[in-house]
Amino acid sequence: MGAVKQVIYISGSGRSGSTLLERILHSAPGACSVGELHCLWRLPADAITCSCGAPFAADDRWRRIVAEAGFDRATLEELPALEGTVCRSGFIARHRFSLDSLRADPQVQRFLALQFRLFDAIARVSGSSLVVDSSKAGPRAWLLACDPRVAVLHLHRDPADVIVSWRSVKFDPGLGTAMQRIPVRAAALDWWKADRFAALLARVHPVARVDYQELCRAPRAALAAALATLGVTLPGEPQWLGPDAVEPGDNYHSLNGNPDRFDNGPLRIAARRVDWSRIAAAERPLIRLAAGALRVLSPRKSFGQAVR
Ligand SMILES: [Zn+2]
Repeated sequence: MGAVKQVIYISGSGRSGSTLLERILHSAPGACSVGELHCLWRLPADAITCSCGAPFAADDRWRRIVAEAGFDRATLEELPALEGTVCRSGFIARHRFSLDSLRADPQVQRFLALQFRLFDAIARVSGSSLVVDSSKAGPRAWLLACDPRVAVLHLHRDPADVIVSWRSVKFDPGLGTAMQRIPVRAAALDWWKADRFAALLARVHPVARVDYQELCRAPRAALAAALATLGVTLPGEPQWLGPDAVEPGDNYHSLNGNPDRFDNGPLRIAARRVDWSRIAAAERPLIRLAAGALRVLSPRKSFGQAVR
């Protein structure tokens, strides 16, 4: 018998505020955010530092979750190859962006069975009915959407801000190195793919678009509107401390994400200002050009009404 009643999947490009959103959701009693869950099998165990500060191998919470899910070494070795097949843009396209077609695929069925063993284990070990997965990848949103218990929050942040953020170096204490810094072209493509996959999914499955600036300006209203679009009720209210702050929830064990996940104390919600001064002058026109094109390719109306 499954334990998880609702999964919220956060999709979006990198650097779009998913760590902020998952921390707000985690503050709601009965909700458990786990960061970028796919890092569980994508990253070597010794490369993961949980947001509680423990190295993955020494993290009691994750040891219990993996055991509760019945995942052994063979399962964790099976997942990268299986994911490498099904969690691909081309694979979703070959299924003609059809959830019915995806659901009928035995490899997708196997992938989903393993994902829900994990979600159920997270729900049981944390005592939560709602699990938040911030893996962000667009193809993963499509695979998880095959199950009606999954609703998708798509984070939208202005493409210029996202690309500038990708080009600014930030240290990640979780990985012990500078965060990845990718070329403008790759950052623009990542943004476009995330946007396209979410817009297409919104035609056939509940997807709500959350605008990063709007979330930071009026977090309660932005979150309430998005959840209403999805028809999702949180098991408890986020622990608001006023209009722009929440008390972080206990037992936050986020596998991977923005370094902000290591912060303690009240979570102040404020839009991160992007720092163009850290971008080489010669690169700035390219970023403006790419962002302008992406804004044209993604008018807000490209998001259909969520299907209930
Ligand atoms: Zn932990």
